[in-house]
Amino acid sequence: MSSKGYIVVSGCKKCGRCRAICPVFALTRNSDDRPKIDHDLCNRCMLCVKCCPNKALIYME
Ligand code: SF4
Ligand code: SF4
Repeated sequence: MSSKGYIVVSGCKKCGRCRAICPVFALTRNSDDRPKIDHDLCNRCMLCVKCCPNKALIYME
């Protein structure tokens, strides 16, 4: 992936799938149980975007 862009969270239902799938452990849980993305670790592989059943993870250019 290019180094441009980042992932944002919108409409998360707190299922936890994205945290389990991230290969570089860039997703952690914030205080309200939604994912928090470490943008320095995230390589924009898009696995979390594809796995979210609620399409709550969105890639922004
Ligand atoms: S895009 Fe890939 S590296 Fe970034 S948070 Fe999602 S699963 Fe992790
Ligand atoms: S997979 Fe989607 S709904 Fe589930 S915790 Fe991650 S962002 Fe939220």
